[in-house]
Amino acid sequence: MEDVRNVIVIGGGPAGYTAALYAARANLEPLVIEGFNWGGQLMITSDVENYPGYPEGVLGPAMMQDFRRQAERFGATFLTDDVTRVDFSERPFRVWVGDDEYRAASVIVATGATARQLGLESERVLQGRGVSYCATCDAAFFRDKTVVVVGGGDSAMEEASFIARFASKVYVVHRRDEFRASPIMVDRARANEKVELVLNKVVTEVLGEGSVLGVRVQDTLTGEESVLATDGLFVAIGHDPNTALFLDQLDHDPESGYLITRGKTTETNVPGVFAAGDVQDHVYRQAVTAAGSGCAAALDAERWLSEQRHASLSGFAVS
Ligand code: NAP
Repeated sequence: MEDVRNVIVIGGGPAGYTAALYAARANLEPLVIEGFNWGGQLMITSDVENYPGYPEGVLGPAMMQDFRRQAERFGATFLTDDVTRVDFSERPFRVWVGDDEYRAASVIVATGATARQLGLESERVLQGRGVSYCATCDAAFFRDKTVVVVGGGDSAMEEASFIARFASKVYVVHRRDEFRASPIMVDRARANEKVELVLNKVVTEVLGEGSVLGVRVQDTLTGEESVLATDGLFVAIGHDPNTALFLDQLDHDPESGYLITRGKTTETNVPGVFAAGDVQDHVYRQAVTAAGSGCAAALDAERWLSEQRHASLSGFAVS
């Protein structure tokens, strides 16, 4: 067990590293428990073209390395491992990585979100062998091939149009005949002659051994089954926040699991615990909004810590 830190940042994506940068520059000497697979969702992204300041675009992993180095430059330290347990019921807060315990006066939760899976055994077996959750990363492997995209949201539409730059044919399989995606995104996919929308269908099995050869689909209205021959399956059905560690301690949306923060702040229901980035934002989910939220969390934590210090000097406890 170590000394009590000013702040522990849990998570190493745009939100976590930006929180670390701001906390480090405020002399709070943050410890970032960044996760074994640090970097977040941008590590499985190639070109990032919408992060301001990079007019030529930047590779996602390179950008995350830059974020990390910038926080390190001002004194943030990193632990490249996963948090396994937290206890926010008493102060200082307690955070465990296996048997190792870390304590801090404040905590910033920035654990992000993870791509949803269909939940099929055949999908799991063929992950990385034709089943992908990231078109930007893997579309180029399907040059002149046939691909199935699952989903009816903006991600599915965007990915279908993107994959069509490489593939010769893209089926978008959606379980309804109405789209969650914005009309302009649907129109763009429809207008693409390589893209075919397959409606009222769900994928029930990914076919192939060692590589994807097809998907079995079932009609949601008639129950009828058929097979679509395909070389790849891109699952684009949304994301889940990485909040399992916190559900018994932090207020969250009961359906989606996203952490709830108060008003425009990053404050959770536990004073001194803040949440930033995709773990509390299901709307914007951009690197730049996550980074902004990480900045806000560090400023909120800094303010809270100085209020605590002030209160303890004047003999009052702040909660
Ligand atoms: P989403 O909006 O939640 O859409 C998920 C889609 O997957 C829905 O159509 C849903 O069907 C379907 N789905 C969910 N679980 C499924 C399952 N088990 N089997 C089959 N289909 C399933 O997620 P998203 O598309 O990732 O978008 C998330 C957010 O990011 C949205 O706010 C979106 O606007 C935003 N976004 C914006 C852009 C952009 O503007 N460029 C690009 C990407 C994402 P149902 O509709 O039937 O529920």
